[in-house]
Amino acid sequence: MIKRLYEKGFNIVGFPRLVRLNPNIPWKTRGNGAICFKVGKSYGKKTKIGEINNKDIFCYSNFSEIENTSEIGKIVEETINEFSWFEDDNTNSGFVLLKKQPNNKLYDKAVKDILSIDEIKSFLIDKKAVFKGYKNCRGLIGATCSIAWDPNKDRTFELIAYRKKDKWGSKRFVDDKSVKKMDKFFSSTFDNFDNLNNHNRLVPSSPCPILFGIRGEKVDDLVNARKMIKSEEIDSWIIFESNQGTDEHLQRKKIVDVNSFESVILEGIVYRQPVTIQGGHVFFKIKDETGEIDCAAYEPTKEFRNIVRELIVGDMIIVYGGVRKKPLTINLEKIFVKNLGEKSVKVENPVCPKCGKHMKSKGENQGFKCVKCRTKSDKPIIQKQERMIHTGFYEVPVCARRHLSKPLKRMYK
Ligand code: ZN
Repeated sequence: MIKRLYEKGFNIVGFPRLVRLNPNIPWKTRGNGAICFKVGKSYGKKTKIGEINNKDIFCYSNFSEIENTSEIGKIVEETINEFSWFEDDNTNSGFVLLKKQPNNKLYDKAVKDILSIDEIKSFLIDKKAVFKGYKNCRGLIGATCSIAWDPNKDRTFELIAYRKKDKWGSKRFVDDKSVKKMDKFFSSTFDNFDNLNNHNRLVPSSPCPILFGIRGEKVDDLVNARKMIKSEEIDSWIIFESNQGTDEHLQRKKIVDVNSFESVILEGIVYRQPVTIQGGHVFFKIKDETGEIDCAAYEPTKEFRNIVRELIVGDMIIVYGGVRKKPLTINLEKIFVKNLGEKSVKVENPVCPKCGKHMKSKGENQGFKCVKCRTKSDKPIIQKQERMIHTGFYEVPVCARRHLSKPLKRMYK
């Protein structure tokens, strides 16, 4: 679209945007992402944001509005008709042209909660927007709400490189070694490579036209990071500003207020010891003054489960994660250990104070008794055990990271 608009003399104002919405919606398409960009006749300070057909693409600081949007609408519609994969059940595209940015509250609802198609349609009619929904029209929700996103609170960037058309659907070549090297060199980038699980996170798993995407804090670093990646030939690349890595999907709540399909931050006390079930999923319970809830570290969260298994009843923690539908379970993205309880194990039966001999157990949880003088005790000899975790944050590995989750390396920014 940007290429075609450029050819017709239109400009892009500011960065194009890649906006992720509620990651827990069951009927979402893959990463629940939407793309939007501002089109105008631009002037002022220009910044290079990409290359298409070996031509530099710039965005500009100032613009004059376009009165007649019909040509833009035509280009957008033609492009969707040509490239959308309508035969896929999950493809329910939609496009929206709006002259005024909707209130940020609309985005807030779409990233944290659920919006109906009817709600969005009446909003668009009310605002006299140009729009078209395909099939079940669900794409209209993402399209509208991505325009409503305000990047001034927090944002990151992603440089996306696209494949040559004749390569679409075939196996990608992106050299792992060069990605690891780039990861070490540019500390402002994140979620590039999972060394422990040997997972190259730059490369998508779907057969889409994207070759790789590099996420980061700084536009200049992304431009240089791209040059470090060894890969098959790039057709084009462009930098998006994004809500990825911002935690904007999360809401601080009490346990009693948690609903399905939300993402929450809950503070509580570990109430039921972690257990590992078949498949390697780890479950435990936390409680606060309003109730109790299950938390889960599923198998794909790999070594994060070893941290979770170290929790014991009494630990004070803050959990961050998405809510699976009933029974409500928090799918952990990260945890903050606030306070560790004392862990101790029974090493020996108690010694009789009169006879100096070890007492005998009377059965599970029934105390001890001296066989000689019948003195009773309920306190075995215990030893404090060193905790294998410390207070502070722990997060799932790069291979299991959700698009919206804020990586710990961004937490204190
Ligand atoms: Zn005794």
